[in-house]
Amino acid sequence: MNPAVQNLQICIIGAGIGGLTTGLALAKQGFQNIQVYENAPALGFVGAGIQMAPNMARILKVLGVWDAIAADGVATDYYSIREGASGKIMGLVDCRNIETDYGSRQTGGHRATLVNTLYDACVRHKVQFSFSSTVDASLDFTGRPTFSVTTAGEEKPHPVQCDILLGADGVKSKTRQALLRKLNVKAGVKETGQAAYRIMLTREQMQHDPELLALLDGDQTIRWIGEKRHIVGYPISQRSIYNISTTQPDVNFAAAASATYTTKGSKKAMMNLYSDFCPLVPRMLDLAPDQEIVEWKLNVHDPLPTWVQGSFALVGDACHPTLPHLGQGAAQAIEDGAVLSIFLGALPDASPENISKALMAYEKERKERAETLVALAAESSRELHLGAGKAREERDRAFAAIKTGTPGKVPDKVMDIDVHKMTYGFDCMREAQDKIATVFI
Ligand SMILES: Cc1cc2nc3c(=O)[nH]c(=O)nc-3n(C[C@H](O)[C@H](O)[C@H](O)COP(=O)(O)OP(=O)(O)OC[C@H]3O[C@@H](n4cnc5c(N)ncnc54)[C@H](O)[C@@H]3O)c2cc1C
Repeated sequence: MNPAVQNLQICIIGAGIGGLTTGLALAKQGFQNIQVYENAPALGFVGAGIQMAPNMARILKVLGVWDAIAADGVATDYYSIREGASGKIMGLVDCRNIETDYGSRQTGGHRATLVNTLYDACVRHKVQFSFSSTVDASLDFTGRPTFSVTTAGEEKPHPVQCDILLGADGVKSKTRQALLRKLNVKAGVKETGQAAYRIMLTREQMQHDPELLALLDGDQTIRWIGEKRHIVGYPISQRSIYNISTTQPDVNFAAAASATYTTKGSKKAMMNLYSDFCPLVPRMLDLAPDQEIVEWKLNVHDPLPTWVQGSFALVGDACHPTLPHLGQGAAQAIEDGAVLSIFLGALPDASPENISKALMAYEKERKERAETLVALAAESSRELHLGAGKAREERDRAFAAIKTGTPGKVPDKVMDIDVHKMTYGFDCMREAQDKIATVFI
């Protein structure tokens, strides 16, 4: 790498999965001057599990962190869709083809392991971090990007200038707001009307109940579905934890300030919501301690006109927040980081013109794909949450038609064969590599 390129000053706002992956991928390309600013005093919220799809694993392997992450995770070979009310299996998908077809198994992991492993690798590769450092929305995109940071203990914000600025600051992104203001575009966060509880149960909490313990020791990721609601459960952390994520109508946030995306949840409200599910489900939810019930508002955003302005680009949930039902939100943030690093790593010189070309190539490569998957996650949620009627009967017939050992059509898109071809079968790094020759002309 040309020394002027190697020394470009790159600032990343946000140390979430997107910001950490981007920092690591850039460092591995040879960039030596990478600074990450994170609002929180330490690595952000990590108290939940995450489905790590093969397209995510492929990139984490190249970055040299997958083995450590997978070693702590749990791969499941079957995906079971169950009727919430009866607990009856509606369809059982055999996922054993996924490893042979796409390179790794469907793996559930602990977010803390994913985030800490990425962070440790960043530190080993000399990526610098400033925690307790909040970037405000007053970005200046002209020439070298300039932004303002307030670090804990400082009275006033201080300005920072860099050569490349990447906004990986999540669904509530201030950098997206700044970009939209610059473009004179009004586009607000869009409510989905859905919210989620995230719960982790330990082996100790489950051990008195053989039926619950079988979930932890079993070989299935399970989705219990009902009208407007569902619950996903899978083992993580070498089967020491059962991770549960629910989705239900957002009633608790309706009256709250729009800035509130997480809230202390009421266990009573949660138990009421799922009281008509089969006895296993309320029994499982009841193990969660009252004080640990936290609810997330699930917000998305309409597609943005662009993710890039000069030497600035958005990354991850800042530009394509999604409903979680396709298990692709973090995977897409990771794809962003990988593709950015490939185009920036190919810079022939350090000129702003070529930086902008690299970022525009990133947007061209990523935007349509990420937005297609956001739309697909929303479509899947409509299908999963159907009430009584013809559409549901048809969906349930499709679930019942799933054949063990033969990948095929599945109404729950996270397990559909054509969706797998599109999500898991797409190697974004190879695609970006193949396009380098066309970027800087
Ligand atoms: C219930 C649920 C389940 C999910 N399950 C999956 C799954 O199974 N698989 C999957 O791939 N994805 C899943 N996702 C999606 C995934 O969690 C997100 O897409 C991903 O974490 C986004 O990462 P990010 O780095 O873009 O944003 P974030 O994780 O939001 O990180 C943004 C970071 O920026 C920091 N920040 C924000 N503002 C500022 C500021 N002004 N200054 C400095 N720092 C700032 C924040 O503190 C934060 O650390 C799920 C999401 C939800 C809600």
